[in-house]
Amino acid sequence: MPSVSPRPSRSVCVLFAAALSLAATTLRAQAAHAHDPSLDIELHGTITPEKIGTHETQTFQMPQGIERIEVELESPGFQKGMYVTVGIFDPERYRGEGRAKFSISTVTATGPYMPGPLVPGTWKVSFGFNYVAPGAHGDYTLRIHLSRQLDPTHYIALNAKPGWYMGDLHSHTGNTDAVCKSQSGKDVPCPVWKLLEAAASQKLDFLAITDHNTQATFNEMGQVQPYYDKLLLIAGEEVTTVRGHTNVWGTIGFLDYRAADKGFTVNDLFDQAHAQHALVSINHSYWPWDGHCPGCGWGWAPITDYSKVDAIEVINGYHEHGSWFTPPPGNGIPLWEAQLAKGLRPTGVGGGDEHRGGEQLSLHDGVGIPTTVVYARELSQPAILEGIRAGHVYVKTHGPDGPELLLNAGPAMMGDEVKAASGSTVNFTITTSDNSGARLRLYLDGKIVESEPALSSGKASYRWTSDGKRHWLRAELVDGAPGSDAIVLTNPIYLNWK
Ligand SMILES: [Zn+2]
Ligand SMILES: [Zn+2]
Repeated sequence: MPSVSPRPSRSVCVLFAAALSLAATTLRAQAAHAHDPSLDIELHGTITPEKIGTHETQTFQMPQGIERIEVELESPGFQKGMYVTVGIFDPERYRGEGRAKFSISTVTATGPYMPGPLVPGTWKVSFGFNYVAPGAHGDYTLRIHLSRQLDPTHYIALNAKPGWYMGDLHSHTGNTDAVCKSQSGKDVPCPVWKLLEAAASQKLDFLAITDHNTQATFNEMGQVQPYYDKLLLIAGEEVTTVRGHTNVWGTIGFLDYRAADKGFTVNDLFDQAHAQHALVSINHSYWPWDGHCPGCGWGWAPITDYSKVDAIEVINGYHEHGSWFTPPPGNGIPLWEAQLAKGLRPTGVGGGDEHRGGEQLSLHDGVGIPTTVVYARELSQPAILEGIRAGHVYVKTHGPDGPELLLNAGPAMMGDEVKAASGSTVNFTITTSDNSGARLRLYLDGKIVESEPALSSGKASYRWTSDGKRHWLRAELVDGAPGSDAIVLTNPIYLNWK
């Protein structure tokens, strides 16, 4: 007879531990996916030839507040003459059928299953006895793990090696406002695959999809990730408030974009995102808050608690774009440097802000323009986010083909801190793959270092004598044309920061 037992499920624990080992490096990530054995359920039953061509229904109780379930059927299997399928119904509707192992969360689900709220109450599981060979007999166990945390689908490592990984942290699909040409040349909502193909053709290692105020793309991302085994998809959202846009990277649930200055502000929004173990970034802060792009400029500036801001988009893909998005001259660097001057350390990042599925209408359109390059311990969502949080980042403003630019001081890299007593010297080394004659420009506390070190065979060094006080130094490569922008820029090395 079917039976239900609440005892812990070892195989699901093992699976979960495997997911954790991929994810786990930060305490945040570990805390996010801690396994609560009290939320494990097992359903048991028998498989006999008499059941062939029938269904058997069992039930379990879904408590309040569950964000994700993982389900795995253990049975002798088709090879032993027993083929059983699992269909699942919540108290209100059918959720899918067909796999022996699957997950369903509020925002994602495995293949044939449908994401959405995990409604509390009695759920039904329908076991379909598609085939039971004459004389075959066995037991089945369905292990169900309930979790109060969202989907670790994106905790997948595509490359286990530490290194510099190139990607784009800001992009849109037709699920919000990305538009591209249909087969007959009409402007239509741009399908996700166009964006992904464009990112793959740019040879990007990662792509954050940050649709406006929605996680509608998360499910498709989880489904297509196995195909894109060289392009890590990072879950994100551009939280689009009426006073500015902020990118949030991580596997998040609802974030309240209705932040308004009546008891709930953008600082509370940042707290909401951090509570979900995500990073936040201020986007295209330089845009005026006017009719060109309503709500796009950073209207929260007067009340923003910048200590809650993990990153600032220093270069946005619409920079110099020839459309109605055209911003005035400038970029996010002034806002970024203003925070550095206060002793904060938001990481400077780029964001392509692609809205055309990779269709290039001008020089500055396209996925990966700019490209953000992150030093990460592996190519996985948590590792990329850790690299961003650490400031181990430089930005190729013109795209992935731009040169590498590395700033070091001994073992310290950009984003790291160096302590130097007054009177001691720090030797910075700058390494680039550029051989086009670009000039190196160093900024100390936001001011150009007068004696620009010469680049010779892709290397330069800069010797600095410490006064024992707090400073920061960052590097840019600038091409030869007067007034031209940086083609690549690094995050700072921080001196005597604390
Ligand atoms: Zn925006
Ligand atoms: Zn955007």
